[in-house]
Amino acid sequence: MPTIGRLIEQVETDGKRLEIVWDDGIVLKTHLRLNGAWHLYRTGERWRKPNDQMRVAIEVPGWVAVCFNAATIETYREFDPVRHPGFGRLAADLSNATDAETAECVRRMFAYADEACPIAEVLLDQHVARGIGNVYRSEILWACELSPFAEVSSLSLDDCTQVINAATRLLRTNLDRVYLAAGPEALSGLAVYGRNGTRCARCSDTVQVRRVGQFERLLYFCPGCQIRHQPFVEPPLEPPMREMDPHPAATLFNAEMRRRRDSISG
Ligand SMILES: [Zn+2]
Repeated sequence: MPTIGRLIEQVETDGKRLEIVWDDGIVLKTHLRLNGAWHLYRTGERWRKPNDQMRVAIEVPGWVAVCFNAATIETYREFDPVRHPGFGRLAADLSNATDAETAECVRRMFAYADEACPIAEVLLDQHVARGIGNVYRSEILWACELSPFAEVSSLSLDDCTQVINAATRLLRTNLDRVYLAAGPEALSGLAVYGRNGTRCARCSDTVQVRRVGQFERLLYFCPGCQIRHQPFVEPPLEPPMREMDPHPAATLFNAEMRRRRDSISG
């Protein structure tokens, strides 16, 4: 199950199938078949189906999404060979790591075996540090003015310390805030994530987005000021995404929820 404070990054529907992806790669899949339904309620609002028919509930401040009577409910983690537990001992979770554990995360980043791996990918490797997720990796790199494409081996020990410290600071500050990437308020406090096409608060250049890595996770960055350790030749990337609203998941989620409230729960 996703832990408190994780962001919902993507919601996909296909008929009565719904797939919700959290930023740490956890996926919740429901299939409603004939009798299932997702309802969206304000916190404290009375549910229109008995509580014992609830199969899943997702709570954020002010709202709760409840899935009743789904025929199938599955949760799993997107398979990522880099994150696979078979690759050795997982690192500490930065949101509650001791100083010694944090220092170990710095060491693991500095000594990363795949030297050419871009720092943006290394930040999601659970063997370096846990707890970062896809949203905070964009934010951390912006905070450190680092190019997301910097090869990890180009970072000094001081750079690695700065990155891990920034990650720790961000994670701990936001531990008691729950985001749901489903509206403009979800983006408050975020510098680049979901802000493609808007001006960077630091240098006024335009924030960009790319799909990167095996799962094409969204990576947001400012090409104007995130230039530290920028590689001489950027690795080949998917072409920039087509014009879209700042956050595709938000648009889809809102549209689908509204439709569901009207058609299914009605
Ligand atoms: Zn900038």
